[in-house]
Amino acid sequence: MSLLEVNNLKKSFRVSDPLGRKAGRLVAVNNISFSIGKGETLGLVGESGCGKSTTGKLILQLLKPDQGQIVYDGTELTGLSPGKMRPWRRRMQMIFQDPFSSLNPRMTVAATLSEPLLIHRLVPPRQIRDKVIELLEKVGLTAEHEQRYPHEFSGGQRQRIGIARALAVEPQLIIADEPVSALDLSVQAQILNLLQKIQKEQQLSYLFIAHDLAVIEHVSDRVAVMYLGQIVELCSAEELYKNPRHPYTEALLNAVPVPDPDHARPLALTGEIPSPVNPPAGCHFHPRCPYADDLCRVQAPVLKEISTGHLVACHYHDQVGHYLLQRRS
Ligand code: SF4
Repeated sequence: MSLLEVNNLKKSFRVSDPLGRKAGRLVAVNNISFSIGKGETLGLVGESGCGKSTTGKLILQLLKPDQGQIVYDGTELTGLSPGKMRPWRRRMQMIFQDPFSSLNPRMTVAATLSEPLLIHRLVPPRQIRDKVIELLEKVGLTAEHEQRYPHEFSGGQRQRIGIARALAVEPQLIIADEPVSALDLSVQAQILNLLQKIQKEQQLSYLFIAHDLAVIEHVSDRVAVMYLGQIVELCSAEELYKNPRHPYTEALLNAVPVPDPDHARPLALTGEIPSPVNPPAGCHFHPRCPYADDLCRVQAPVLKEISTGHLVACHYHDQVGHYLLQRRS
């Protein structure tokens, strides 16, 4: 059974011109559906501004959707009052891209980790210190770190504190919003390994948001690719990397660095991402798509299952792969 089901979720925002007059609506999330199983990682990938982070905020009910359902462990969350939502929010936690801005600079690590334990009364007060040290050790820090302040840590260590804070309330689902994109490559690998280790120990589910397919390749069971607020491809991670069927996925894969650059036959992603206030007619990807033809310019493709568990929104999905770099020998 799925832990989380997202059905036909939609969110738009009013946008104004410089004089404050209504200038249109920005459709950030446009009718998306997916599920996440217990202990599963779903990668959500796409360029900046495609609606990934808005999707995370909608799931946590930090934003109200215009339409659609969010069903968590069998309970529909959309429409719950703030009071009724509180116990559910504890079960879903977020890890941010920039842990420095999400940590209070005036609070020691011990105070940061104690706060959620006290608010949710998860352990008796006299056991809080032991729990704080247990959390620190779980993320690769030690008791020596508990009285330090955020500025005394490296970026990777701060992200470990952010993970410990999320784990303090014993969540089942973690929404990790670009959790490693601000870190050096070697530190990225350490944090990804830590997230995977914790997932195995605690049977956690992750929604792992990233703009880079290379980052989520090794952590995701399935991957959803988003473009201009819509899911354009969704399948197992293995299938996506071996057999992408959407030109946008193909272009994202070609952007992943390869060990042998002489092998490169890139389909570069040309042009700017169009404005979501006024997206192109037909298939929204057509101005940047090398496979586009007249049909694409007038008729939007529907997301449909082309093989078991592999969904694609493209009129010509059977032709895709022509420009794909040979990433593996
Ligand atoms: Fe490209 Fe057409 Fe497929 Fe859209 S529908 S991705 S424009 S081939």
